[in-house]
Amino acid sequence: MEAKFWMEKENMGGEIVDALVVVLRTRGCRWGWRSGCTMCGYLWDALPNAGGEDVIRQMRNVVGTLSRSRRPGVVKIFTSGSFLDDLEVPPEARSEIFSMLSDAGVERVVVESRPEYVVEGSLEPMHDVGLEVEVALGLESSNDLVRERCINKGFTFAAYKRAAGLLREAGLRVRTYLLLKPPLLTEKEALEDVFSSAGDSAPLSDVISINPMNIQKGTVVEMLWKEGRYRTPWLWTLVEALRTIYSRLPPGVKVVSHPTGGGSRRGVHNCGRCDRAVLDAVRTFSLHGNVEVLDAVLDGREVSCTCLDSWRDQLHADRLLGVPTDVERWRDRLW
Ligand code: SF4
Ligand SMILES: [Zn+2]
Repeated sequence: MEAKFWMEKENMGGEIVDALVVVLRTRGCRWGWRSGCTMCGYLWDALPNAGGEDVIRQMRNVVGTLSRSRRPGVVKIFTSGSFLDDLEVPPEARSEIFSMLSDAGVERVVVESRPEYVVEGSLEPMHDVGLEVEVALGLESSNDLVRERCINKGFTFAAYKRAAGLLREAGLRVRTYLLLKPPLLTEKEALEDVFSSAGDSAPLSDVISINPMNIQKGTVVEMLWKEGRYRTPWLWTLVEALRTIYSRLPPGVKVVSHPTGGGSRRGVHNCGRCDRAVLDAVRTFSLHGNVEVLDAVLDGREVSCTCLDSWRDQLHADRLLGVPTDVERWRDRLW
């Protein structure tokens, strides 16, 4: 089995550079095998017998395809689990991958991990490799109740803080993932949750990445969605989240969003007519940090669509009902 990979753009210190995204196939997330998060279907892509050699081979094949003329400044490595878990990616494999990337002239590497694998030993291969390393932690929400009951994440905010602090002390960068609209929250509650989570995690983050819910197959969230008891967030909610968080962040902390499945029913979406334009604004903002593009879509200068009023109605309807519901799906079913 081979890794998936593609190129995208990334803002690195104000300069727009090529970023290589690599999804390595590993044995999968240990938490996923034991219990798993309510929105996560990554285990379906796992290779239960994959070892360090498989992971090295996959990465070597990807690096081998890079042309000398187009070397990426940034490489983002996703394992659909934790890159710092010794079972998923053994320390020798981590060292080998880092030297491979360093030799290829890469400047920054982004990897993902659950907090429990951020320990002194796991950070060692990242020292003295000549690469700037950023570790992404999937906090999702700073509210322990939301993270535990709605997401079943299996770690506390205190565990995240410990890990982020350790990474910072080791001179590494921290990217914090926040989930926009965990199940069981209304649209309005989701907005309030992401605002407070961004405020709580900002002191320990270099980048805050807002991940709007994307409904994956075989998950609890998919079950709720099929029953009409969950709607993925509106793109308007994402725009509101980004511009408000941007205005509250301390200098030096970035907020970005790279939605998966944006514009589809399983991803963050609006009415279908304005989705492309709003997603373009989100992409432009995430690359350049120019909040004016978000203001322009939300105040109707760039995108004028009647679904903006429907979104505002939904914020109120959710509040009146007191439970999240997919109003459009129920309306389609009943009428
Ligand atoms: S979301 Fe992350 S931590 Fe949760 S089960 Fe999936 S890979 Fe593991
Ligand atoms: Zn619309």
